[in-house]
Amino acid sequence: MSDAPLAPHEQKMQFLYTLRSKGVTDARVLGAMEKIDRGHFVRGTFENRAYEDTPLPIACGQTISQPSVVGLMTQALKVGPRDKVLEVGTGSGYQAAILSQLARRVYTIERHRRLVRETQALFEQLDLSNVTAFAGDGSFGLPEQAPFDRIIVTAAAEDPPGPLLAQLKIGGIMIVPVGQSDAVQSLIKVTRLDEGFDYEELRPVRFVPLLEGLSKDS
Ligand code: SAH
Repeated sequence: MSDAPLAPHEQKMQFLYTLRSKGVTDARVLGAMEKIDRGHFVRGTFENRAYEDTPLPIACGQTISQPSVVGLMTQALKVGPRDKVLEVGTGSGYQAAILSQLARRVYTIERHRRLVRETQALFEQLDLSNVTAFAGDGSFGLPEQAPFDRIIVTAAAEDPPGPLLAQLKIGGIMIVPVGQSDAVQSLIKVTRLDEGFDYEELRPVRFVPLLEGLSKDS
């Protein structure tokens, strides 16, 4: 076998093949992940590794999640074309960009202002007009835009935050990694019922912790 770098279309085929082999089978999710090029969301040193199924460093000491985890979480969220979705933990903006292909409207909150500025600029450059990034502590959700059909949290909480549960519509779904930040966490699917919530454990995951307040450094 030759060690020559893969051509772009080969890289893309390999990327989609890996997603499928890891259980991402939903056609709408695969279509969105085919359309949104992860290369836009990874910059600098790691740019040439954008199509590997691995988390990578981004600005502000944060990470862009592993593509197969993005795919599995998006698939579990069962986003419909009329849905209003909230993401907590914008990071690179990659997950939000994928959601923008599946939902009517996407709001995403991040505690690092620099990441909000950079991702909002990227959304505009890519003509993703139904997604907006906000600076703030996402544990409190976005009361002005609530309630949401779907909520996805991409940082680990010790428990699903109360304000997010309160901002979920009846019948709505929230996907959230739960557990201590230095241990393996569980990905949880929360469904809001007429009364109360149903909790389902999906798989072990590892995310950066959900921190309190806006970041002081950027
Ligand atoms: N979804 C991102 C990856 C998220 S990494 C992507 O697709 O690239 C987790 C992000 O959550 C980090 O950027 C971190 O700064 C942010 N974060 C942590 N606690 C937060 C909080 N309370 N409110 C908003 N963002 C938070």
